[in-house]
Amino acid sequence: MEVKSEKQIVKPRIGIYGFTGCAGDQLLIIHTEDQILNLFDAVDIKSFVMASSNPTEGELDVAFVEGSISTEEEREHIKEIRDRAQIVVAMGNCAVAGGPQAMFARDGSFAERIKQVYGDVKFITDPVEATPIDEVITVDYYLPGCPISQPQTMALIGRLIHGVEPEDITTPVCLECKLNENKCLLNDKKLCLGPVTMGGCGSACPNYGLPCVGCWGPNKDGNFSELFRLLNSFGIAHEEVMRRIRNYGGHKILKYIEDIKDKER
Ligand code: SF4
Ligand code: SF4
Repeated sequence: MEVKSEKQIVKPRIGIYGFTGCAGDQLLIIHTEDQILNLFDAVDIKSFVMASSNPTEGELDVAFVEGSISTEEEREHIKEIRDRAQIVVAMGNCAVAGGPQAMFARDGSFAERIKQVYGDVKFITDPVEATPIDEVITVDYYLPGCPISQPQTMALIGRLIHGVEPEDITTPVCLECKLNENKCLLNDKKLCLGPVTMGGCGSACPNYGLPCVGCWGPNKDGNFSELFRLLNSFGIAHEEVMRRIRNYGGHKILKYIEDIKDKER
């Protein structure tokens, strides 16, 4: 970040953008009520779709982008944001993995599904199959979650503001679940996706005895084939596991389960 003098530090210029999604990640930032005033004091918010009616569209130090890319217009807009931002952060499951709207990604039925839902409606801008933003532009950092968590978000923003490289999130939900001393639901033969899901939610669901459905998105270090094998050994049908894992897996899940799909052919 630019320093004008010893006493006058130029605040980082931030843009917060929303593409196709529920806007829950922007809402979470607004709901960080105990920290938002400090945040607004520490940065120069140039654009915040949900919170500001007076955006400016110049150069940015950091762009936070929520939502998947699902129209030709959005493809052009995200490229334009990339061109003027030094750092781009994908924020939330839709931007990181494609979101639930990408659960049938690349199954070849996109045109048919559009027709089923919208019939002969004429679109203002051409719809495209929903993709995570890193299929269109280069992304520097990822904030997973549906929605993102306050501690992970504030930690990442704090690091960026102070010029410290943010940490990559690689641990699974199971780690947090063990730290919270929960009984593992796999012992009860439940369909829990904790072993292959990115951590950060504090094992919110298993804390209440509910299996993880994977809303933090797939963890690249997860042993997907072993989890499939284990769940199948419980008598849970392969199709049911696949359907569950694809809910929030979007495009990202495809490469992790490719070998499992290959075995089916
Ligand atoms: S309950 Fe789920 S998240 Fe917790 S340890 Fe077991 S598999 Fe992992
Ligand atoms: S579904 Fe999994 S990743 Fe999502 S909040 Fe629940 S435990 Fe966390």
